[in-house]
Amino acid sequence: KSKSKKRAKTASKEIKHAAVLGAGIMGGGIAYQSAYKGVPVVMKDIRQDALDLGMKEAGKILEKAVKRGKADNKKVVKVLSSITPTLLNEAVKDVDIVVEAVVENPKVKGSVLAEIEQVVSDDAIITSNTSTISITELAKNLKHPEKFCGMHFFNPVHKMPLVEIIRGEKTSDETVAAVVAYALKLGKTPIVVNDCPGFLVNRVLFPYLAGFAEMLKEGVDFVAIDKVMEKQFGWPMGPAYLSDVVGIDTADHCTKVMAEGFPTRMPRDEANAVAQLANAERYGQKNGKGFYDYG
Ligand code: NAD
Repeated sequence: KSKSKKRAKTASKEIKHAAVLGAGIMGGGIAYQSAYKGVPVVMKDIRQDALDLGMKEAGKILEKAVKRGKADNKKVVKVLSSITPTLLNEAVKDVDIVVEAVVENPKVKGSVLAEIEQVVSDDAIITSNTSTISITELAKNLKHPEKFCGMHFFNPVHKMPLVEIIRGEKTSDETVAAVVAYALKLGKTPIVVNDCPGFLVNRVLFPYLAGFAEMLKEGVDFVAIDKVMEKQFGWPMGPAYLSDVVGIDTADHCTKVMAEGFPTRMPRDEANAVAQLANAERYGQKNGKGFYDYG
């Protein structure tokens, strides 16, 4: 009896109901994946058009799954009805976990996280899908930093297996265990990593993108670089196309955070190609124009 009591005490919180803040490329994808794997999800955004697009994208992924024989109409209805789009913070109040996926800006994320902590129950876990921002720094906006960690998915969420789970200075073991269990429930491969700007994957990726930016400055054609990386080196896409897929605005925000974190290795250059494209509102595939034009 005492054994099972002890087990109950140390067992991690089971995630049965989730919320995603932001219905963009990542928030929409995370909401879809959660619903697809049987965890109902509230998807919150500040724009109705973003919510509509998030639902539309989920529908498109399911359509493809039906065509490949991986889902039937019953599954389509079940998944779509497990996603509740909303403009209201209050709709999030009963969830076990929140995955914040709004714009990559420390100030915006800080206020979104603080606001949502007021709404959810005391034992809810809050996570951030930030690509680069320190989890320990973001946690300073919260009253319960022990219930907060990074949960970093990759794009496109339904295809990419890896999820980085980032432990901040004050994150508790119970929080990490619950988020690892949720990632596994979503069919993903979680790895627990320590906190630093960019964590593991983007700490490796951004020096590569900085090298790409340097070559553009020297006048090398981005199409040529993409071709070499794709066709000759064998990567699925080159750095220009990758930036368009990520979102030029997001790539620009990330570059700034990485330059602040690693000023010697990746010094900020306001005139870099990604910053220039962002200033020209060429945000990549999300608005049909970035390095490339999309019809
Ligand atoms: P996105 O621009 O596609 O979507 C952001 C969404 O957040 C928009 O729909 C916007 O309306 C919404 N939003 C803004 N403020 C909000 C608020 N206060 N409350 C609720 N919603 C709000 O961006 P994205 O690519 O989905 O990126 C989101 C986060 O995920 C960022 O932190 C980014 O670094 C990270 N991320 C992005 C990628 C990628 O490849 N794009 C990969 C991994 C992680």
